[in-house]
Amino acid sequence: MNQIQIGILAIQGDIEENLTATNLALDELEIKGRVIPVKYVNEIAGIDGLILPGGESTVIGTLAKLSGATQLIKDRVSNGMPLMGTCAGMIMLAKRAYDRVVGEIRQQMFNVLDITVERNAFGRQNDSFEAELDIPLIGSESFKGVFIRSPIVTEIKNGVDVIATINNKIVAIKQGNVIGTSFHPELANDTRFHKYFTQLVIDYTK
Ligand code: GLN
Repeated sequence: MNQIQIGILAIQGDIEENLTATNLALDELEIKGRVIPVKYVNEIAGIDGLILPGGESTVIGTLAKLSGATQLIKDRVSNGMPLMGTCAGMIMLAKRAYDRVVGEIRQQMFNVLDITVERNAFGRQNDSFEAELDIPLIGSESFKGVFIRSPIVTEIKNGVDVIATINNKIVAIKQGNVIGTSFHPELANDTRFHKYFTQLVIDYTK
C-alpha cells in the first residue's frame, strides 16, 4: 500500500496544531504516512483525507472559494474522501450557519452536511472554556473539549449522527466519512480524534 497522505487545509487557523496532532496519531498507530499543509487544488487532488482547522470560518470560506478549493473539496468528499472539521472547520461543513449575535450571515461554506450551525454559540473569546465530554465513538474515557468561540449544531437532518453533546447542545457530529466538532481536539493533548480520523483515511485508501 502507498503511504497515506493527510492534508491540513492551510488557509487560516490552527494549522500547526493539527499537523502536530495528526503526526502524533500516525506515530501512535505505527502508520507510515505524510501529513501536509494544503491550499491549492493540485495539492488537494493528491491527498487521501483532509482536516479543516479551527480559526475564522468567514476568512477560510472566502479564500477557499477564490482558490477553487471549495468545489474540489466538495467533489472529493462526495466521492468518499474523509473530512474532519474542528470549530470553524465544522462551520465550513454545514449547509446553513447563523451567528448568535448578528443573525444570518452570507458566508461561503463547503455545504457537505445537512446541518445548521450557530456560530459563537457560547459567547465571545472571554467565554472560552474546557469541559470533559463523554464520546463513546472514540473510547470510554472522557475527552477534554476545548471550546474557543465555538459553534453548536442546532439542526440535523436524516443520516447525521450526534456523537457528543454538552447541556443538550450538539457539539460533535458524524455522517459517513465526515466528522465535525465544535471544540478543538488538536488542543486537547489527546490524539483519539485524530487517530479515529486516520483510521477512516486508511479504510478509504484500501
Ligand atoms: N467563531 C469562529 C467562527 O465563527 C470559530 C472559532 C474557532 O474556530 N475557534 O469562524
